[in-house]
Amino acid sequence: MQTLQHPGHAQQPCPRPKVLSQIMIELECIGGTRTVTGSKYVLRTSQATVLLDCGLFQGRRAESFERNRALPVDVAQLDAVILSHAHLDHSGALPLLWQHGYRGPIYATPATRDLCAPMLADSSAIQASDAAHIDKLIARGVDIAPVTPLYGTADVIGTLELMVGLPYHRKQVVAPGITATLLDAGHVLGSAVVVLDIVDGNQQMRLAFTGDLGHVRLPILRDPEVPTGVQCLITESTYGDRNHGPMSESIDTLATTIAATVARGGKVIIPTFSLERAQEVIFALKRLRADGRLPHVPVYVDSPLTVKITDVFRLHPECFSSEMVEQLRSDDSPFDFAGLQYVSSVEESKAIDALTGPAVILAGSGMCEGGRVLHHLRNGIEDARNTVLIVGFQAEHTLGRRLVEQRRDVRIFGVMHPRNAEVISLDGLSAHADRHDLLDFAQRVRNAGSVASPLRQIIVVHGEPAAQDAFAATLRADGFANVVVPTPMQRIILATSHL
Ligand SMILES: [Zn+2]
Repeated sequence: MQTLQHPGHAQQPCPRPKVLSQIMIELECIGGTRTVTGSKYVLRTSQATVLLDCGLFQGRRAESFERNRALPVDVAQLDAVILSHAHLDHSGALPLLWQHGYRGPIYATPATRDLCAPMLADSSAIQASDAAHIDKLIARGVDIAPVTPLYGTADVIGTLELMVGLPYHRKQVVAPGITATLLDAGHVLGSAVVVLDIVDGNQQMRLAFTGDLGHVRLPILRDPEVPTGVQCLITESTYGDRNHGPMSESIDTLATTIAATVARGGKVIIPTFSLERAQEVIFALKRLRADGRLPHVPVYVDSPLTVKITDVFRLHPECFSSEMVEQLRSDDSPFDFAGLQYVSSVEESKAIDALTGPAVILAGSGMCEGGRVLHHLRNGIEDARNTVLIVGFQAEHTLGRRLVEQRRDVRIFGVMHPRNAEVISLDGLSAHADRHDLLDFAQRVRNAGSVASPLRQIIVVHGEPAAQDAFAATLRADGFANVVVPTPMQRIILATSHL
């Protein structure tokens, strides 16, 4: 029997006999199409099956729970999983794979692997506390269906045992006929563009999957790397229908918003994704403080997860831009400044709400769907002196999206509140490429193509319908002939031939 050696694992038998009359390389989009969550793409050849990402669906609670619980992946057929980055909409369903019996390797960069430990543990803890909260509501007579957590600590630990660190640029055979190489995606710490060299019978192709692509010139990370010789590009399109304002403009707005809020005695509440948004905002605040543009008010990072993740950042200077590496050489930590306090305990968190003076509060979750930011919003949303500053993408049906839409009333912990606080959105600090960046990346991939076998197909995923369709139209207008916008569960044939 043919065997395949995975680093850190015993030799594993190759799963299926290969007696086929037809070669077919196909991609099935299980999640992460017509939506920005639930990223899951199955690549099948006649010899192997590889899963790209295994993310959680997020949005309306009951609907998301059902979609997450039903995992339409046959783990017995799966040779390997490759994870583009640690955000939960890409990684958060990995423990379900373990629960369903998957015991093969999960490849990711070493930084992504390290980030998944706190991220998945936090996801499991949030599910447990959500379930407990709903049980309490039911006990009080509220008519609501009980939920059980999707997975627990044992599933998270089992998942982490499967994770194999694959550094950028190192070629790794991940399944029969499939070699993976990870390039820097510049989106969050450890994020990767996944490049797959696929050989199946007489078919041979190079496929690149962007995962989430970074906004160019982010202060902490390097810009995305462009793969060469690609025939099929699977690209995200989160911001495929709009361009961000310049980052300098967003930094200016950050400074003026904080100054105005402090002047009227209010608090600035910044819902932040613990991974990357928080560190980018902390770094921006540090610069403003150094430039004398940040008033001398306390700045709280009220998120135990952010504290843990910031520690992981300190362990991975290999992922940083040269400017950041230079700063790390000095004793001046990029994630600390006078007046900044990291808050872990619940008591300290409650004490922040009891403060009456101005302050800047960063807290998760980034889309206001859970976490401590909900407590700060509940206490602060009705006070017209306060500001909610939105710095990341807000998916449909989330509280964050309703705030961005400037709704007059919002529901927090099941209770409607009049929204008197100001809401300001800053998209220039986004970790995602905008339309210009995405098109530029696709053009560079085309320009770096092989003359004999050029880029022949672009599959546009990971966007809400308007963004996916707009970006597909942009690509077609730029001369890309074969642009596909898949529907959920659609199978796309990438190559086929009869033997
Ligand atoms: Zn992401």
